[in-house]
Parts: sequence; C-alpha cells; structure tokens
Amino acid sequence: MSGCLVAIHLLRSSRTSIAIKLIEKKDVVGRGVAYGTPHSCHRLNVPAVKMSAFPDNPDHFLRWVENREETGLDIIPGGVEPLSFVPRPVFGDYIQEQLEVARQAAPHVQLTCIRDEVVDLESASQGTLLRLRSGVQLRADKVVLALGNFPPSDPKPAEGSFSESPLYYGFAWAPDTLAHLEPEAPVLLIGAGLTMVDQAIALRERGHRGTIHALSRRGLLPSRHEFNGTPELFTLDDLPYTTLGAWRVIRERVARANERGNDWRTVIDGLRPLTQQFWKNLPLGEKRRFLRHVRPYWDIHRHRIAPEIHRMMADMAAEGVFQIHKGQLLRCDEVGDHLDVTFRQRYSTETKTLRVRRVINCTGPECDYRKFQQPLIVNLLKGGFIRPDSLALGLDVAPNGALVDAEGEISASLFTLGPPQKGIWWETTAVPEIRQQAKTLSQVLLHSLTGMLVNR
Ligand SMILES: Cc1cc2nc3c(=O)[nH]c(=O)nc-3n(C[C@H](O)[C@H](O)[C@H](O)COP(=O)(O)OP(=O)(O)OC[C@H]3O[C@@H](n4cnc5c(N)ncnc54)[C@H](O)[C@@H]3O)c2cc1C
Repeated sequence: MSGCLVAIHLLRSSRTSIAIKLIEKKDVVGRGVAYGTPHSCHRLNVPAVKMSAFPDNPDHFLRWVENREETGLDIIPGGVEPLSFVPRPVFGDYIQEQLEVARQAAPHVQLTCIRDEVVDLESASQGTLLRLRSGVQLRADKVVLALGNFPPSDPKPAEGSFSESPLYYGFAWAPDTLAHLEPEAPVLLIGAGLTMVDQAIALRERGHRGTIHALSRRGLLPSRHEFNGTPELFTLDDLPYTTLGAWRVIRERVARANERGNDWRTVIDGLRPLTQQFWKNLPLGEKRRFLRHVRPYWDIHRHRIAPEIHRMMADMAAEGVFQIHKGQLLRCDEVGDHLDVTFRQRYSTETKTLRVRRVINCTGPECDYRKFQQPLIVNLLKGGFIRPDSLALGLDVAPNGALVDAEGEISASLFTLGPPQKGIWWETTAVPEIRQQAKTLSQVLLHSLTGMLVNR
C-alpha cells in the first residue's frame, strides 16, 4: 500500500517524464496484508473520514465511498458516515483506483507494475541494480523499500515446539490459515491484539462453532472506538521526557477529562499529533522503559477496534465461544490430531492445558530485521545497505526517509516509509501518517531526480 501511495504522489507531482516501476511479489498491488484480506468482516480500525490517501484532501476517501454507495453498492448496513469503519477490502479497491486515476492523468510518466520479488540489490555506477527472483535485473536511480510488516516469530514454549507441527499456523495472514477446519474444532489463537480479533471474527463469519481460545501474557484486549468529546489539546511542553512522568501526566489528564464527562479517548487522541516528536526526543533508556512497562497498555488504548467488531467479540465471549486466557506458555505436545498447549496462569502457580485442533500465531509482526529470512533483507544486511534502529523496532532512517547504512552513512538512493520507521517515529504504521510520508518522500525523490538530470 505504501509503495502505491508513493507512486500516486509521484504521478500527481512529476512534471518531467520519469519511469516508475512498482514491484510486488503478490498477484495484486496496493493491498498488502491489511487490505488484501478477502473477509469483509475485517473492518478498518480508523474511521472513513481519516482514511484519505491525500493529506491535503482529508475527505477524499469518504467521498469516494459515498459515490460508490450512490451507484447502488451496499458497503455497510445503514450506509457509510464520516465515523464509519469500512471493510478493509474496500480500502484496497480505493488505493488501486487512485493509482489508475493518477496514471491516466500523467501520460508523461511511465508506470509499470511488475509481479516479481526483489531478492538483492547492489550499488551500480549510476544508481542501484536490483535483482529479481525471476532473474531479471533492473537499474534504478532511486529505490523505495515499501515492504510493510513481516510475519511474527514463533512463540517458544519452555518445552516442545510449535514450528514442527502441521496443526500450527505461524502466519495468521497466510491464505490457508482457516482452511479445512471443522466447524466444531477448538482453536487457540496466541496473542490478544488486532490480529487475534481479525481471526476470531473471520472464524465467526465462516460459522465456526468450536471454542476459540486466545492466550496472551496479560489477556488485554483492544478497546473499542467511541467518539464523545473533542481531543484534548497538548503541547510538547506538557510532557516530561521520561516514561513515568509522561504516563503520570496522561493519567492526570484522563482523570480531569472524566470529571468533565469526557472519555479517556479524548486524551489518547489528543496525543497523536505530538507522538512522533515526543518519541524522537525521548532518551533511549526511556524508550526502552516504555517498551518494557507501558507498551501493552498503550497498544490497547491507542489501537482500537470498530464498535461493531467489539460487540461481536463481546457476544462471542458471552456465548462462551470465545475465551481469553492470561498466562505464560509452558509447553506444547502433539497428541494424535490435537495439540495440548499448557500455560501457567497469571499471578498463580497453577497450570492449565488447552486441547485444540489448530494453533494460530497472532502475536503481531516481528520487527527485528536480523531475525528475518527473506532473501532481500538477508542480502541488504549482509551488504551493509541497512541497519536496525537502536531499538530494533525497524530500520535506521534519516528524517527524509533515506536509509542509514551499516557505517552510519545516509543513502542517496535507498528510501523507506511506513512500518520500518517505527523505531524512529513510533507512530508510523497507519494511513494518516503513511500518506504524509508518501507525499513528502515523493517530493524528496522528484527534487533529487531533477538535480541528477541537470547534472548529467
Ligand atoms: C491487519 C492490518 C490491519 C490494518 N488496518 C489499518 C486500518 O484500518 N487503518 C490504518 O490506517 N492502518 C491500518 N493498518 C496499518 C497500515 O495500513 C499498514 O501497516 C500498511 O498497509 C503498511 O503499508 P506497506 O505498504 O508498508 O505494507 P503492505 O501494505 O503490507 O505492503 C507491502 C508489500 O510489499 C510486498 N513485498 C515485500 N517484500 C517484497 C519483495 N522483496 N519484493 C516484492 N514485493 C515485496 C508484499 O508482498 C506486500 O504486498 C493495518 C495493518 C494491518 C497489518
């Protein structure tokens, strides 16, 4: 999706005849993991009014959806409103259409979509040489790595291992994750965040009747969106640059908001415009403290789900179909066509064993690039083109999106945006941030390409 957004902004802004090659290893561009889901029960977790591809035209997505409805398409029951949560596949349609619209409006720009995987790259006398899995080689003046999120690492029980079992599905977004599953089969989802919710809802949509267990250390589930009250106003001066200090300020603000009849969400939403700058200024040790102590609580308050999805989860819990467990994974044993998964219950020495037919890893993306097996990443690290940021939440990146190499040099030809910038900006994975990064990056690219054309 980020790669498409950069292409769209380049198409819209370029006044000269550049060539853009959009290389995607999957069948379709613009969807990625998030918007490539076939399940319409998978809703956006950001309201329609905030999902425009264009930072300077914030209603664009909303108006596009409304136009679709006017042609007779039923997008959600009751019709789409500014604060509606639209099915994610619809957003994928939107991005694909915007790419086509931008392409047609810029006949002087050559856009080619290539279905292939980039497996390696090397510096060339002019620009960068990319090697594709098919054997094709391409040269580019500028390269944007818009690679998104990577699959999670396998959970590691103290005894036994999931990875060898055919009953274990390590990547929740693989197309076969829910395939050939008997409707009565008990299932265990490891993790309790947004991926877990998506899997539970998809199971419900396909009429699953067996118990859906979810296991996480704390058993914290994402909160639901609600819109009452305008976001609190913060300035950077309101927040001390320590994790504990900032957390105290947030709690005080929440208490005051509650006294005024406002919701805690107004405080969390009020922080959003400052989060990137605050994170950038926070000392490294304090960032580590935040990740250790605050992150799980931050995540469930910041990354919320649509009210209708929250209601579905609550209904499933009330019916006993969905059960959440908190504890530490101890062992897994394959017993015939089942997996017995044992965990120690939180705040207890008691253990509990769940007998399930399938275990799905919903622990969220792995961020440490040193753990990835994808050929491109392995080769980029080996070649010293990239290095992890100091928290290994993503890659080391300069403020203009240029990648920082193993020696600390800022690249003149390799750039990135979105999830790989998490360590630098923290708040960088959702469309409201990515669209701005895509626009800014397209300007950086066009500016430096103009310089190159003049100098050649
Ligand atoms: C399940 C989920 C739901 C989300 N919901 C929302 C939401 O409701 N609202 C919101 O604002 N944000 C949401 N997000 C966050 C955000 O939109 C995503 O993080 C965003 O899609 C990131 O875009 P991306 O282009 O970086 O990654 P992706 O969209 O995943 O695209 C990366 C693409 O790169 C391809 N690729 C990777 N490596 C190679 C290679 N070597 N060669 C060729 N192709 C390659 C992949 O196949 C993939 O298609 C969601 C994220 C997820 C995971």
